[in-house]
This record gives sequence, structure tokens and C-alpha cells, in this order.
Amino acid sequence: MRRYKALNPQVKGKVVGEMTHLLAQALDYFSAGKKDMANKWAQKARRVGMKYKVKMPTQLRRQICKKCHAFLVVGKNLMIRTKEGNVVYHCKECKHMMKYRYR
Ligand SMILES: [Zn+2]
Repeated sequence: MRRYKALNPQVKGKVVGEMTHLLAQALDYFSAGKKDMANKWAQKARRVGMKYKVKMPTQLRRQICKKCHAFLVVGKNLMIRTKEGNVVYHCKECKHMMKYRYR
């Protein structure tokens, strides 16, 4: 089994910064009507996290569909509702529902 070194906290900060930057660019592409490019940039943000084994922060993670990995924007291809103590995210690209508990 391959062993991994513990991640330097400075690296984690840089990776999260990179993810934020990539998703901001994805939003720019999305607003410009380039949906495929937005999805590509969302994929890049995911990949960076996987490469350095850094979990994506919650607010960033919810901008990407868990099933089809599309970049999501509220009112465009994402619908958010509350239902039975959950916040439900509907991806309009693949009709996938993501539920998050709230208190
Ligand atoms: Zn989806």
C-alpha cells in the first residue's frame, strides 16, 4: 500500500483558492452563454481537489452537480426548495436531486 504524507495546511489554502478561482471563471463562462466551457472549468476545480486530496468547501461543492458534474447556477439550471427538513437541489441538466439536512 502506498503511503501519503500529511498535507501541508498552506497547500490546502492554495488549493481552495485555486478551486474558488476556477469556479469564478466557470461562472463567467456560464454568464457568457458558454455552458460547455463552464462545465469544463467546474471539472478542473474538482480535479485539483482530487489531486491534492483537499475537500471542496460546502458553498463551492454545491455549485457542481453530484451526478453529472455540471456547473449549476440558481434560476438557470438549478432549483432550490425546502422539503421536510431538507434543502433540495434539483439539477435541471440531469434531473438529479441532492438533499441537504438543515436544522
Ligand atoms: Zn446533474
